[in-house]
Amino acid sequence: MLELEANLQAVRRRIRAAEQACGRPEGSVRLLAVSKTQPATVLRAAYGLGQREFGENYLQEAMEKQDALADLDILWHFIGPIQSNKTRPIAERFDWVHGIDRLKIAQRLSDQRPESMTPLNVCIQVNIGGESTKSGVAPADVAGLAHAVAGLPRLRLRGLMTIPAPTAEVGAQHAAFRRLRELLERLGIPGLDTLSMGMSNDLEAAVAEGATLVRIGTSIFGRRPRAKGRA
Ligand SMILES: *Cc1c(COP(=O)(O)O)cnc(C)c1O
Repeated sequence: MLELEANLQAVRRRIRAAEQACGRPEGSVRLLAVSKTQPATVLRAAYGLGQREFGENYLQEAMEKQDALADLDILWHFIGPIQSNKTRPIAERFDWVHGIDRLKIAQRLSDQRPESMTPLNVCIQVNIGGESTKSGVAPADVAGLAHAVAGLPRLRLRGLMTIPAPTAEVGAQHAAFRRLRELLERLGIPGLDTLSMGMSNDLEAAVAEGATLVRIGTSIFGRRPRAKGRA
């Protein structure tokens, strides 16, 4: 667990340094700990070190951890692809959903969000590089989807999210994140305050381009075993 503490501190330092490097106020970037494949005991340890927001990709795995950690005051983010037959537990058990890329999914989440809960915070996922294999809405279709989602009663549209094609080339990292920021600015929808962008390998570029929330897995928890293709 000593390693977890050192990793978490190192990531917090990277975020602070990135904020300072571009003159953004300290604390303007939230850290989402991406805990897919990590057992509940590890999330509990991170919570003990002050981490409150966790991102999960696989619904079944996430629900097991939510049950095991029900005594903790965690903000749960669903960041994986969403199947339309799995929207109800997502609507009932999460605080945020980052991967909205179809109106049908958004509509179902809104319909299924319990009245007793606050509206579900959502981000629209944008396929910024136009890679055909990736999920996310095309940049040209963001505005139409965003205005429709913003009108749904039980959702609160917070902003945009992207997972750019991995590249070590810093200029390309900046270009992708800048595009997402410009798309958000152009929407002109009041209340949008979130750019969910930046992962372990590109958080500095994301913060420089205006990220308000970075999604970090590997740099906190170490390398994951290879994905098993679960839902
Ligand atoms: C796995 C994942 C991350 C974290 O990636 P790392 O490179 O491990 O930091 C961030 N966002 C999404 C959507 C992910 O699936």
